Amino acid sequence: MTRLLIVGPQGSGKGTQGVRIAEEFGIPVVSTGDVFRANVAAGTPLGQRVKAIIEAGDLVPDSLTSEVVRDRLAQADAAEGFLLDGYPRNLGQVGDLDAFLAERGEQLDAVIVLDVPRAESVHRLTRRAFEQGRTDDTEEVIANRLAIYERETAPILDVFRERGIVDEIDGVGSLDEITERIVGALEARGLSRAAAV
Ligand code: AMP
Repeated sequence: MTRLLIVGPQGSGKGTQGVRIAEEFGIPVVSTGDVFRANVAAGTPLGQRVKAIIEAGDLVPDSLTSEVVRDRLAQADAAEGFLLDGYPRNLGQVGDLDAFLAERGEQLDAVIVLDVPRAESVHRLTRRAFEQGRTDDTEEVIANRLAIYERETAPILDVFRERGIVDEIDGVGSLDEITERIVGALEARGLSRAAAV
């Protein structure tokens, strides 16, 4: 059983690396950003509620976000482990996650932090805007999302550092190099594909 969280500023490559690491460990990715985008695209009531918030690069209210994650983690495929991408994103959400994992007698095993210089993040996001046309990848919204990361998300790392579960990974390099660094750090904790099965 492997319960992971991947954290990094927008443009750090956390989405891409999250998918790769989850595959290595045989666990599902739970990405709140993906869930919200899918709901916006399908025009569900949840999507209608969060559309404007996401387009402005602001955070969806904690209660709503935590409910989405709680429901997702209750599905059968997450019983043997999961990789969270983009949640928790502030201290309130850390409290919510801790509470519902505790109900299951669980806790996070490791928090992967992808370190990428700000200029590199902005460069990657601008390129992604061009390639994928994401509506929250405009220059102004990118600046807002990075500011929220610094203000609200960076402080959650101190909580996880105190628990001794943070692995800081250099997020600059080829995709394969970065995946190898992450797998190496997780294996050094005694987490491995074998242990996940
Ligand atoms: P992401 O793909 O992780 O960058 O998420 C895209 C957008 O979804 C964010 O800019 C927020 O508007 C929203 N979102 C994703 N995860 C969360 C979260 N944990 N809390 C609040 N809003 C979120």
